Order: sequence, then C-alpha cells, then structure tokens
Amino acid sequence: MIITIDGPASAGKGTLASTLADIYKLAYFDTGMVYRAVGLDLRLKGQDINNETLAESSAKSLTFAKMMELSKNKEFRSSEGGVAASVVSAFPKVRAALLKMQQDFAKNPTFANGTPAQGAIYDGRDTGTVVCPNADIKFFITASSEVRAQRRFKELQEKGMDTPYEKVLADIIARDERDSKRSTAPLKPADDAIIIDTSDLGIEEVVAKAREIIDNH
Ligand code: C5P
Repeated sequence: MIITIDGPASAGKGTLASTLADIYKLAYFDTGMVYRAVGLDLRLKGQDINNETLAESSAKSLTFAKMMELSKNKEFRSSEGGVAASVVSAFPKVRAALLKMQQDFAKNPTFANGTPAQGAIYDGRDTGTVVCPNADIKFFITASSEVRAQRRFKELQEKGMDTPYEKVLADIIARDERDSKRSTAPLKPADDAIIIDTSDLGIEEVVAKAREIIDNH
C-alpha cells in the first residue's frame, strides 16, 4: 500500500505521516529531506544555492546514506534550511536527478532500521502527482499561512531556535509562492487527492479523518 501526503509547509503532513506509518506499520519517506540535503550540502561547501548547475551536481552526488548524515546537522531543519530546499527544488534538473531515488523507495520500502515494509507513506509536495501517481490513497493537507506559521514558530522555539514569528510567516509565504509557481512539479493537489484543511483541526481529528478514509479503502 502506498499513501501520499502532500501540501504546503507546516500544514501537519509530517505528524500525520509518521502517525499513520506507526498505526499501519508502513515505512515513512519524508521527501523534503532530499531537497534539504542538497540545499545544506551547497551551503556547507560555500556554494551558491541559486546556481542550478552546482545544485544538480550536488543532487547527483548525494546518496541516501549521505542525506541521512546531513539530516543530523542542526541547520537541516532550520527555517533557512527550508528556504534553501525550496530554492534548489525549483530547478528542473535537481528534481530530475532526485526522482528515481524517491520512486525506487516505493518498490522496496524499508523501515529506518533496514527491515522491509509492506508499503510506504510519502510526505512532500509532488508525491501524489509526480513521484507516485499510482498511489493507493492520496491526501492533500493544507491550512492558512498564519496557522502554519504559528505551528512552525512554536516548533522552532521548542528546538531552541530563536526566529521571530514575522520571519517565519514571511518564509512560509515565500516558500508557498515558490513551490506553487515553479514550472516543474508545482505544489497542487492530485486530481484524485482527498483534501483536508487542518486550520481548525487538532492532530487527533486529522488522524481520525485519514484513518476513516484508509480503513474504508
Ligand atoms: O517538507 P519540507 O519543508 O522539508 O520541504 C522543504 C522544501 O523542499 C519545500 O519547501 C519544497 O520546496 C521542497 N519539496 C519539494 N517536493 C517535495 C518535498 C519538498 O519541492 N516532494
């Protein structure tokens, strides 16, 4: 079983995806990490994240293991890390270089410890439209930009990162704009996606809605 969960930044995709992965014993693929890895790799090398050629060679050179290693860096999940990911992810050559790695996971999904799983939950922007167009169930999770900025702000504070709320909101709006306006794989719901707006919902309610849909499937 392949389930995709797409949507804008901080809509609650990650929490929903990891909760459903636990409940249904499915492997979890956070596809944002591949773009965050490229962004961070360039930044650590002192290279320009706006240079498509450099971003493409970084994307081609990164193995899954190297991405996992980069994900341990404090900068990986930072607001700047998200912005860098969104800049490099707008390059068609970067997306092309990272597509097969993401699609291959659906053929042999594995848990973090390497044991095989019966299926996978993907979390990203284009997993229902481009990465896994034949997924069994597709969700599109969204919420207002203010609600998402509040959630992200709280999350960063809990991690001890001192980014002002206004900057978090501005980053979210800029990321939405870049993610939905890019020419390749823009952020949009798949035609057969089930849309859930989480602005006024708690995580338990979102999980309950998704479970009902999966159990009926
Ligand atoms: O989900 P996360 O915030 O980690 O994603 C970081 C950035 O990576 C997103 O803003 C988006 O630009 C890009 N991304 C993407 N396609 C995906 C996942 C993430 O373009 N499937």
